[in-house]
Amino acid sequence: MTGFAFELTHRDGAARRGRMTTPHGIVETPAFMPVGTQGAVKAVTSDELFACGTQIVLANTYHLHVRPGHELIRDLGGLHRFMNWSGPILTDSGGYQVFSMKGQTKLDEDGVTFRSHVDGSLLRLTPESSMEIQSALGSDIAMVLDHCPPLPAAREAVELASARTTRWARRSREAYRGPGVPFGIVQGGTDETLRELSAAELTELDFPGYAIGGVSVGEPPEAIASVARFTAARLPETRPRYLMGVGRPEDLVEAVAGGVDLFDCVMPTRNARNGTLFTAHGRINIKREQYRSDPLPLDSSCSCETCAHYSRAYLRHLFVSNEILASRLNTIHNLAYYMGLMTKLREAVAMGALAAFREAFLAPR
Ligand SMILES: [Zn+2]
Repeated sequence: MTGFAFELTHRDGAARRGRMTTPHGIVETPAFMPVGTQGAVKAVTSDELFACGTQIVLANTYHLHVRPGHELIRDLGGLHRFMNWSGPILTDSGGYQVFSMKGQTKLDEDGVTFRSHVDGSLLRLTPESSMEIQSALGSDIAMVLDHCPPLPAAREAVELASARTTRWARRSREAYRGPGVPFGIVQGGTDETLRELSAAELTELDFPGYAIGGVSVGEPPEAIASVARFTAARLPETRPRYLMGVGRPEDLVEAVAGGVDLFDCVMPTRNARNGTLFTAHGRINIKREQYRSDPLPLDSSCSCETCAHYSRAYLRHLFVSNEILASRLNTIHNLAYYMGLMTKLREAVAMGALAAFREAFLAPR
């Protein structure tokens, strides 16, 4: 529990700006975490991540456990050294991947049994083993194993999952030995009574930070925003709040307005590889014919390496020619866009101007 702190510096309505100190550096919040599923944010190096404004990355416990194995990473000096990322790392619990597997997962009160997607071998994850794996990786923030029910789920199933999540959170809290801090995860689906109960039970366990889980499983955007706002308001003021797996730029703006501090999503990196690029004037599908001879940068208001040196025509050419440079240049830009959005949100909160920013951002373009 050493080296972790969270300090709120500004408030604007329900929105907050803050500073989260971790053993590997400071994160200015609200912040977005690029997803480095297998110990790599696809297509970019650590230097490129820093250059885009990345402060903290997320890595997936399940993937690193299955391959190359957490013991090997621990023996090679931990995940920071293994992937050459000196900034903070948050790891998920592995539960989300395991619960997303179809038909291969057996759940009981003690944990969950599943088959490896790499070699089909039988594996088991418990609240304790998830924390042990995350300790071996050397995460700055370790997420507790939670039970995320799929949508649509009957209220009774959500209630059971939510209650089990609390029991597992207690076991995780007791088992975790560092070097970072554990975050609890609030479940409860879209049911406000269950969300309220889950938030109250987890708060009682006094975690250094809290996540809002179970909200990126196919709900409409309005439901995401309303669950985020409702849940954030029921978590302790003085702890960071992390909305897991969300999302689109519009979702981030709404959730920041609702009091969320941390985000992760594959959207900027996955969309980049599919040729969908975020700009100040909306999304661009770079493979479209209209960009064939377009000499302009993707976004003239963006200062990333891609926009500084390459035209839309060149990026379109790379994409339609299947050049691997397309993935790298597109990822650099999309990450710079997301980090730039978070910077603007932090500035707006600090100036008490978030409502105006939100209105302008969400206005039809
Ligand atoms: Zn750019």
